[in-house]
Amino acid sequence: MEQGLIQKPSEAPRAVDAAAGPSTYHPSMPQIIQHPVVVSSANRDDVPSAQHLSTTYTDDLCYPVSNIADIAANIMVPNKFRLRARVKAIFPRNPPTGTPPMANYICFFCKKCERPYVYVLQPISSRTLTTRDNAKTCHGCKDTILAEAELRYRFIAILEQNDNSLTVLISDRQADEFLPPLPPLSPTNNPNDLKKIENRTREANEKVEQILLGAMMDGQRSRPVIDWTVECYAVKNGKKGAKGEVVVYSVFGMKSS
Ligand SMILES: [Zn+2]
Repeated sequence: MEQGLIQKPSEAPRAVDAAAGPSTYHPSMPQIIQHPVVVSSANRDDVPSAQHLSTTYTDDLCYPVSNIADIAANIMVPNKFRLRARVKAIFPRNPPTGTPPMANYICFFCKKCERPYVYVLQPISSRTLTTRDNAKTCHGCKDTILAEAELRYRFIAILEQNDNSLTVLISDRQADEFLPPLPPLSPTNNPNDLKKIENRTREANEKVEQILLGAMMDGQRSRPVIDWTVECYAVKNGKKGAKGEVVVYSVFGMKSS
């Protein structure tokens, strides 16, 4: 644990904020170190934050809002931050190669092998689907009937603040906290069942775009300002032949209203 970053309750009296509702203080959430108490007005956007989705860490004194430039300059890893930003774009984390598929922010996850595998959404007019066609079988256990599979959110969002942007992962349990529940799966390779999964996935994808990018207005997404919490941590560089670690940013601690 990063002892130096954790602010004890006795050191920082909480702001009284009736609108904040029940206690939002989480002692396990470290602070960004640049501005431990003072909330800079320069970090704020004049536009109010979205109401439909926000961080659960809403106390401005305990969890000051950082800007993307602060976060990029931070050298302490792991760390956690709060920021207000619009979503510039979202896209699948592991897009399959070949024909561009429909945007799919959801993957199959093999519970046995604990690994995701790509789930390719076909255009609606495509031929009858089979598991072999529309999803790559889990490479680990060769499961072709979804016996070990569940659906999980797994995608990348570009958060945008003035001229700065931050690429973040939105996935797994952290995504489940604020995105619509995904349908449970049971073992099948029946084309009708697969079609149903496909349709539910399609609906969930549309909701993801609606929630993160906002409603369509005059042909453009409204892209609301969202109050986020993001954590950074180091992972092994997964690129072939690459050495060392890369810092990944991942959304956590969010709720929908
Ligand atoms: Zn497997």
